[in-house]
Amino acid sequence: MGPARVLHVAHHGGMVDHFVDSLAGLSVGGTYGFAVDSAWRKLNSVYHSSGHLIAGLVENLQHGLTAVAGHPWPGEARVEFEGQAEASSFDGLAIELSTRLGELLSKPIEVKVTGDPYSSRAIQIGDFPPIPCGRTHVRALSEISAIRVLSIKRKGNRVRVAYDALPP
Ligand SMILES: [Zn+2]
Repeated sequence: MGPARVLHVAHHGGMVDHFVDSLAGLSVGGTYGFAVDSAWRKLNSVYHSSGHLIAGLVENLQHGLTAVAGHPWPGEARVEFEGQAEASSFDGLAIELSTRLGELLSKPIEVKVTGDPYSSRAIQIGDFPPIPCGRTHVRALSEISAIRVLSIKRKGNRVRVAYDALPP
């Protein structure tokens, strides 16, 4: 945005806040050009949709875990769950999850955006339930070439699934 790099964007009271790396060269009331880094946007879409897919799958695998938070940033991506799952079941869960991810990525499954963009936007992967979300996503799972489960660990009352993902 103008001379600044945008690091994060968030809805805030009907406005859209852009968090930038520097205020140098920006002033209130100024008009600035925008450019989208399409490769970075695509990578973030892949990571974000992957996080939703992991959340839906882990809930379906019936280990008693419910997704409560996601942090889809490339390099530190993770999905966090709450529930009573025992650490002794995590190796099995990682194998089941990796297998199901591989199966789903090989199918022509759509990622649909539903609702109103300002009030009720949600995304739906295939037959998984729609999840409220305002971020950028792939349009189909075919735009993700691989998702790798890096670790499953308990951190306090949460279970954290760390992952990375590759665009085609
Ligand atoms: Zn989301």
